[in-house]
Amino acid sequence: MQKINLGAGPAKLPQEVLEQAAAAILDYQQSGLSILEIPHRGKLFDAILEESKALVNELCELDNDYEILWLQGGRLQFSMVPMNFLPQGASAGYIDSGHWAAEAIKDAAVYGNINVLASSQKDNYNQLPEWPKDIDPSLAYLYLTTNNTIFGTQWKNIPHTAMPLVADMSSDILSCPRNYKQYALFYAVAQKNIGPAGVTLAAVHRSFLKKAKSGNASMLDYAAHARQHSVLNTPPVMAIYTSLLTLRWIKQKGKETIFEDNRQKAQWLYDEIDRNSLFTGTVAHAAHRSGMNACFVAKDKDTEKRFIEFCKNNEIVGIEGHRQVGGFRASLYNAVSKSDVEKLVTLMREFENRELQLS
Ligand SMILES: *Cc1c(COP(=O)(O)O)cnc(C)c1O
Repeated sequence: MQKINLGAGPAKLPQEVLEQAAAAILDYQQSGLSILEIPHRGKLFDAILEESKALVNELCELDNDYEILWLQGGRLQFSMVPMNFLPQGASAGYIDSGHWAAEAIKDAAVYGNINVLASSQKDNYNQLPEWPKDIDPSLAYLYLTTNNTIFGTQWKNIPHTAMPLVADMSSDILSCPRNYKQYALFYAVAQKNIGPAGVTLAAVHRSFLKKAKSGNASMLDYAAHARQHSVLNTPPVMAIYTSLLTLRWIKQKGKETIFEDNRQKAQWLYDEIDRNSLFTGTVAHAAHRSGMNACFVAKDKDTEKRFIEFCKNNEIVGIEGHRQVGGFRASLYNAVSKSDVEKLVTLMREFENRELQLS
């Protein structure tokens, strides 16, 4: 029996994607070569790159206005953004809504002046900070994290602003309705919702890219990656191909269907967290709760250990909370099915019955 991975990342991938990826390792499209061996500057990989970019353009409704790049290094984006878009002497605005936002702020501060416009750090990020008012228009850009993977909060709507918006969408890209054209630049590490670890998707509006500073080393320069069509160096071909398989899966299933399933999954789980006498959600306001990472705790550590054990015995893994929050975190990424969530909810009910009988 397959285990259900509710880990925050590397996360569950659709079964069809895993099967196609496995077949491609043995022989890619009857080329007689493994996908692990095909040249990165050749027809086969060109087709993978072109189709993957076209799908991102289509699924995010970008109207061909963005350079779509497959990059490496995950959180290297925390540095590349200021290196490219924070001119000497200028300041950038950051929203400090969680661990990854705080890390991005630290890394950006190496390159220039960072104004933290809003923060929920003093509440251990158990809610979103209030969206800043009267944002200084001279800021080079405004940076936010759409979904706070560790603390389980999510910005559902971003108020309109004239500022160029830069967003880390690592843990909620293509999971819910979002106006991607609102952003000057957005990026997502693949291993949360669109593929395996080793590759990062970045989309940069062409007009914003024109404002990028020159003088960066080529691997740290968005424009250089764009000019070289994501093959400035030897890219992780397998990770990009697997991401393409996931994008195809999203398109085939229909993104509206996936968004609606995700809404339903989150609702089932949060309803159970609120109903169940053993569990408490950690996020202060229901409206701030993440549709992707649901964080909750039990009344004491022993109960938590027993529930994690109970899940493991029932083939659900990866549900331990991050050490900064404790308790549990159930990640409900696109590949986690409605029946996976039904199984978790059923286990939460069974566990409650067992515990109440013990006491
Ligand atoms: C996981 C995550 C990252 C970091 O990803 P790495 O690939 O480990 O560098 C950054 N931002 C968010 C929101 C994340 O969830």
